[in-house]
Amino acid sequence: MSWLGELRDLAPQRALTMAEAYGVAERQALRLLRLAQVSEPPVSTEALAYLPWLSVSLDRRLGTAGGAAKWKANRWIVLLNANEGRARRRFSLGHELKHIIDHRDLRLHHGRLESRAEKLAVEQLCHHFAACLLMPRPWVKRAWGLGVQSELDLAELFEVSPQAMLIRLRTLGLAEPTTRCGIDNDYLRSEPLSLPNMAA
Ligand SMILES: [Zn+2]
Repeated sequence: MSWLGELRDLAPQRALTMAEAYGVAERQALRLLRLAQVSEPPVSTEALAYLPWLSVSLDRRLGTAGGAAKWKANRWIVLLNANEGRARRRFSLGHELKHIIDHRDLRLHHGRLESRAEKLAVEQLCHHFAACLLMPRPWVKRAWGLGVQSELDLAELFEVSPQAMLIRLRTLGLAEPTTRCGIDNDYLRSEPLSLPNMAA
């Protein structure tokens, strides 16, 4: 079975609640790390970029989007915004990988995605996958247990932005939650939901 098929098959073939989808995303991220033989931080995005069905390149014309994915000549091509820094590009690669993994069964899992709120929920799910991929729960907890507890030190260790690390720590219950009202949208950038035309 292809790696992509193996990752897709971790999701049941039916509609998912968002809670289920978040659990699936974390399992897929951990499986992908295992398949790519990445076992310690920082996650080597070079190792991920060597996935047999993927090619990654930088693009200066993506506007405010962190990245984009398209299917072309039997490969998925991920474009990352060349105007962004390394930490954000790494996060965007994780985000786009989730779009690719979910492409085949997107409608089955999440319906027709007609409202802006539904589309944003999918974007948030892709951010969650990226966070699980670059900051795997067991690795963050291990580092925390070894005494690396400042978000700046952890961000450096995992090669992510301090902001992304802080959100991850909150998600894992290792930092105080935000006191703001509403959902935590800090992961989200003003990125349109752009889906490729063809399924892998
Ligand atoms: Zn997206």
